[in-house]
Amino acid sequence: MSLTSSRQSVCLSVQREYGELAIRTAKKLGALDETLKIRSEDDRILIPLARRLSDSEHSNLCSLIEDFYISSADFPMNTRRPKTILEALEDTLPPHLLASLPNSLDIVGNIAIVHVPEELTNHTRELGEAIMRVNRHVRTVLRKIGSVEGQLRVRQFQLIAGEDKTETLHKEFGCKYRVDPTKVYFSPRLSSEHDRVASKVKNNEVVLDMFAGVGPFSILIGKRHSDVKVYAVDVNPDAIRFLKENVDLNRVRDRVVPIQGDVQSVIRNQLKGVADRIIMNLPLESMRFIDVACEAFKTSGGTIHYYAFGQDPDALDKARRGLVRAVAAAG
Ligand code: SAM
Repeated sequence: MSLTSSRQSVCLSVQREYGELAIRTAKKLGALDETLKIRSEDDRILIPLARRLSDSEHSNLCSLIEDFYISSADFPMNTRRPKTILEALEDTLPPHLLASLPNSLDIVGNIAIVHVPEELTNHTRELGEAIMRVNRHVRTVLRKIGSVEGQLRVRQFQLIAGEDKTETLHKEFGCKYRVDPTKVYFSPRLSSEHDRVASKVKNNEVVLDMFAGVGPFSILIGKRHSDVKVYAVDVNPDAIRFLKENVDLNRVRDRVVPIQGDVQSVIRNQLKGVADRIIMNLPLESMRFIDVACEAFKTSGGTIHYYAFGQDPDALDKARRGLVRAVAAAG
């Protein structure tokens, strides 16, 4: 295998004394190609550009630097990567904006998902490119717009850097998931919860994953236990399309059964009295589905993994009391 160690690029050629100013300006414009190493030739500095400069950028540069021209040259690849977004942007953004840089992001396959604070809305491209430089596997950076919404629990995103490609392959606990976060719900933050629930499942159980998404509970359970049956239901046709693909990818076709539809009618039409364990991962609304969940249990009963949102100090007790009341009311 041969690795490319240099690449030709359009570049800015300036006299040595203007080198620093020119590099800073190219960075500020977001035009510096940081995948290539800046180099010198005789008394000039050659600065690789990621794109051609616009006319206004060109005249802006003319006002700052007396003697420069645009040409083309070979550049060695820049292998040194910044370790943090802060390090990647410290020469580009002023200190008050550096203080607002996000300190967390979600990585789904080769897609990074970030919340951009209000103060940085004019610098989304720089932020996206910095995220890509720090995270070598990231090919696409999406900015969260608004919150997770609607029955399908999907959020809006804006592409801020990289390829306009939102389908990816995510790996979690040895399982592979095809997923497109713009079409289906998926959160890598739930990975330890997927693992925790899967570790509770016992041999021979029948599990009903009422709000399965692309299958991170169902598939992990199917992968860990050869003698389980998991019914994985979701109303979102895209989620079920990915779930079916993921069932094949992870070779759990004999254990995990994807079913598309509203879980209420799915249970009433085909899953009454079948389950030992039910996963209700729809925190905003799970209470509404307790009665139908009870119909899905075997007569011997079983375990519910119940999710709810709460902010009060006694949120857990409140959720527990609500659940007990709802189960009693369901008879
Ligand atoms: N459990 C998955 C995970 O961990 O990634 C996805 C959870 S997501 C919070 C909730 C899912 O419930 C969404 O995929 C949504 O499409 C689905 N959903 C919402 N209402 C539903 C309903 N009435 N019947 C079936 N699925 C539903």
